[in-house]
Amino acid sequence: MKVLIINCGSSSLKYQLIDSETEQVLAKGLCERIGIDGRLVYQKAGCDKEITEASMPTHNEAIAMVLDALTNDKTGAISDLKEIEAIGHRVVHGGEKFASSVLVTDDMIKAVEECADLAPLHNPANLIGINVCSKLMPGVPQVGVFDTAFHQTMPEKAFKYAIPTEYYEQYGIRKYGFHGTSHSFVSKEAAKFLGKDINNSKIIVCHLGNGASISAVVNGKCVDTSMGLTPLAGLAMGTRSGDLDPSVVEFLGKKLNLDASGVLNILNKKSGVFGLSRGLSSDFRDLEAAAEAGNHDAQVALEVFVYRVVTTIGSYVAAMDGVDTIAFTAGIGENDGHVRAEVMKNFHYLGIEIDAEKNSIRGENVKISTDDSKVDVVVIPTNEELAICRDTVAILSK
Ligand code: ADP
Repeated sequence: MKVLIINCGSSSLKYQLIDSETEQVLAKGLCERIGIDGRLVYQKAGCDKEITEASMPTHNEAIAMVLDALTNDKTGAISDLKEIEAIGHRVVHGGEKFASSVLVTDDMIKAVEECADLAPLHNPANLIGINVCSKLMPGVPQVGVFDTAFHQTMPEKAFKYAIPTEYYEQYGIRKYGFHGTSHSFVSKEAAKFLGKDINNSKIIVCHLGNGASISAVVNGKCVDTSMGLTPLAGLAMGTRSGDLDPSVVEFLGKKLNLDASGVLNILNKKSGVFGLSRGLSSDFRDLEAAAEAGNHDAQVALEVFVYRVVTTIGSYVAAMDGVDTIAFTAGIGENDGHVRAEVMKNFHYLGIEIDAEKNSIRGENVKISTDDSKVDVVVIPTNEELAICRDTVAILSK
């Protein structure tokens, strides 16, 4: 079955066309600057990228252009739109309403609308993608795959904030967690790769990208994760602060004469390793080069990042009463052997040993721990689009 995967943002849209039987990507790309001017990037498998500047006043024109590119005589990946048998959409926030992927129906759309105040920038954009696809490809079944769904198995003691319970009940203020599609995919792939039974496993997944989160997964089910009500919580990230004393919001607001939104803007966009390095960069390649050259701020930024990863992993080992597998994924997790080695230095007490040579392999599933390490440490490239494709096919074959 050919499945179109759509990840719709407020002014951009990423897409992939995947053959679910071979799991090959037939074409992929993105639309940028929707509502501003418009740019389509399209790449058929095995071909060069094509870039087209074209007016995209709304997502309607953007998706229509994607469908045209996919069926184009010269470089199209399919000859007829009818070949697309299903559409899988990334949806950011499913609140407590969705613990798994679901078929798009009127009721589903209503429920996603009801979660919109939890993700005001993302959910409305995701719904626009769904609505435009319904219009342009009527009758093609669509499935919604939620970033939050995998984390819905967290127990109350892990997801509740210690604030008056009424606020949880009235406003849904709790830990939801994000990157769930990646955490789910990587934990399953790690077990499969190591030949372990996921139903008898304790896995920690470190999704370390520009946005970063860690999850604790027991027998395939998430029991804790580091992001919270929003993706600002937890680890120090590219530009996000992660956890800090909530009083900082008022304190800094008074100093800078900013309201809460103004301070949150700083915590989201100007903090993390970017803020710690005085705006040098949020990219680990730049920070590592600067640190190597003796830049103290870059050194500290990297140390803070690693320290938070270490302490979060440590707390999840305690929460799960052990761990058998630690998996690294996403931009930093997949590519940065230095960060992985630094993190793992703190786990000698668990009997973890890293093989330096294997730790330098990139771009594939690899076990980076030595054979006598007591815990397996692996790098598993994440593939959220493939995970959405698999879920879409699974839902439709029910
Ligand atoms: P997101 O999807 O959250 O935007 P990614 O998972 O794509 O983020 O990760 C992007 C980050 O990965 C970059 O900002 C950079 O810090 C890091 N990264 C990418 N490639 C490398 C590399 N070769 N070495 C070190 N870090 C890398």
